[in-house]
Amino acid sequence: MARYTGPSCRLCRREGQKLYLKGERCYSDKCAVSKRAYAPGQHGQRRTKLSNYGLQLREKQKVKRYYGLLEGQFRKYFDQAEKMEGITGENFLSVLETRLDNVVFRMGFASSRKEARQLVRHGHFTVNGKKVDIPSYLISVGDVIGVKEKSLSSAKFKALAEEAKTVPAWVESNFEKLEGKVVALPNRSDIDLPIEEHLIVELYSK
Ligand code: SF4
Repeated sequence: MARYTGPSCRLCRREGQKLYLKGERCYSDKCAVSKRAYAPGQHGQRRTKLSNYGLQLREKQKVKRYYGLLEGQFRKYFDQAEKMEGITGENFLSVLETRLDNVVFRMGFASSRKEARQLVRHGHFTVNGKKVDIPSYLISVGDVIGVKEKSLSSAKFKALAEEAKTVPAWVESNFEKLEGKVVALPNRSDIDLPIEEHLIVELYSK
């Protein structure tokens, strides 16, 4: 599946806020948004008042960038959410959260979604004991995500096993075993991202 391969920090600067795409660096004073809090490019420092459509568009771009998705796949998740019972915007975020790369990140086994995606791609993770190297794989309640036995001895995973992190309520992580379980599907209140999903629903409903 295609993905954006340009500079991550440029995306944050375009959205005018931290999207936390680079793990540790995002929390340091090296963060590009902290250093240059304006959009990239020649006209980046111009102030423009966004129209309603502009606001909706920027919200959509921001969420796409959080999850590292391109338009086609993003829209596919929206269409899936629209067919589900309940509130479309909340369902949409819930579907996005259940991608395997996001779950690996939420379980604390990677410092960013981008890193999680790469680790999944490289075949380091299993779902219910079977290797899954598809970042877009959608997990279900009860699924157990583990690190492949061969990968456990790598420096990256050894370091992780020594550093327990706080994880959201819908997942459980065992940092000693480097294994996690999905105990529920995420509710809107579990998703700590500053997203106004109704703007995306409005945009796609035009
Ligand atoms: Fe965004 Fe992280 Fe780069 Fe800061 S360091 S601009 S939060 S990707």
